[in-house]
Amino acid sequence: MEAAKGTSRTIKVNPVVDCSTCTGTGLRSGSQRSKCPTCNGSGTRTFVIDSGFQMASTCPTCQGVGTVIPRGHHCRECDGIGKVRGRKSVKVDIPAGKFHSLERLVPASYGYRGCL
Ligand SMILES: [Zn+2]
Ligand SMILES: [Zn+2]
Repeated sequence: MEAAKGTSRTIKVNPVVDCSTCTGTGLRSGSQRSKCPTCNGSGTRTFVIDSGFQMASTCPTCQGVGTVIPRGHHCRECDGIGKVRGRKSVKVDIPAGKFHSLERLVPASYGYRGCL
């Protein structure tokens, strides 16, 4: 009866980790980010509405960062995202006593989805 003492299980998870090829930068080795051409590096876009009324919004091209990865310079491993899905096994202790959903015991960052 494993319910009485608690148990543990080894599960396979797919945590999101920094891409080891580009160390999380999303850049191909030897490449550099360049100034965003849409916002000219400011990270915001300014719209002029009607009679000179201005509205600023986050630049959609660079998401407000002000720099972009030039075309063709994305890390091939992660497609310029800088994050990849890792793969590892973790042991999860399941306490005794009451029903525990395995998803709750595994940190969400592990990306575990499934059932026992
Ligand atoms: Zn921009
Ligand atoms: Zn990468």
